[in-house]
Amino acid sequence: MQRMTMQDTVPALSKPLVLVVEDEPALATMLRYNLEKQGFRVDEAADGQEALARIAEAPPDLVLLDWMLPALSGIEVCRQIRRRSASRDLPVIMVTARTEDQDAVRGLNTGADDYITKPFNMEALLARMRALLRRANSVPTKGRLEFHDLSMDLATHRVQRNGRALHLGPTEFRLLEYFMQHPRRVFAREELLDAVWGRDIHVEPRTVDVHIRRLRKSINGEGELDVVRTVRAAGYALDTEGA
Ligand code: CA
Repeated sequence: MQRMTMQDTVPALSKPLVLVVEDEPALATMLRYNLEKQGFRVDEAADGQEALARIAEAPPDLVLLDWMLPALSGIEVCRQIRRRSASRDLPVIMVTARTEDQDAVRGLNTGADDYITKPFNMEALLARMRALLRRANSVPTKGRLEFHDLSMDLATHRVQRNGRALHLGPTEFRLLEYFMQHPRRVFAREELLDAVWGRDIHVEPRTVDVHIRRLRKSINGEGELDVVRTVRAAGYALDTEGA
């Protein structure tokens, strides 16, 4: 199955990332082809478990969720998306082959924002997707930063990793905020001092190391990936690779 690498999903902002959760390869391929043609980036998952893993790894802007999936149903996937704080507001369109209204209503009750019935017209799907994305962008979700399984609410200062609340000191919070604004970019200690501590404050570059250590301790739980990468002779980056 075709999958995007983490690198491909980095320059977010410009093109919305759509996760297509579909167990029929032909339909998944058709969706990818049409969505990419319309300027979306596309990620795929062939079952519910994979969908939840992809959402945690590379949070999409919208999910097209097939109702009938092997093992974990689309409804259950939707419930779990809503249960996790990092994906609570993620726009979900349920794709269903069933035509019974009851089923559609049940789909929406589990938290799907909209649904479309197979076979569907691509234009109709695109219109719904765009409407949903507009709505999602108009509410102040801009106050939230996300990277990998980390999420930061800038209004409430709540930071979570994989749904678990993290407790950061003020400096670690600002460090993480800066990293999350520039994921994967490598910063020299001096750059971090300027950005986080301020240009006018004289602090030894070694101080950065101390706070990086504290940050790691706060955000990396038992058995979790170290998302702070040390780049020898260069500095630090928020990265999921090469920690
Ligand atoms: Ca299916």
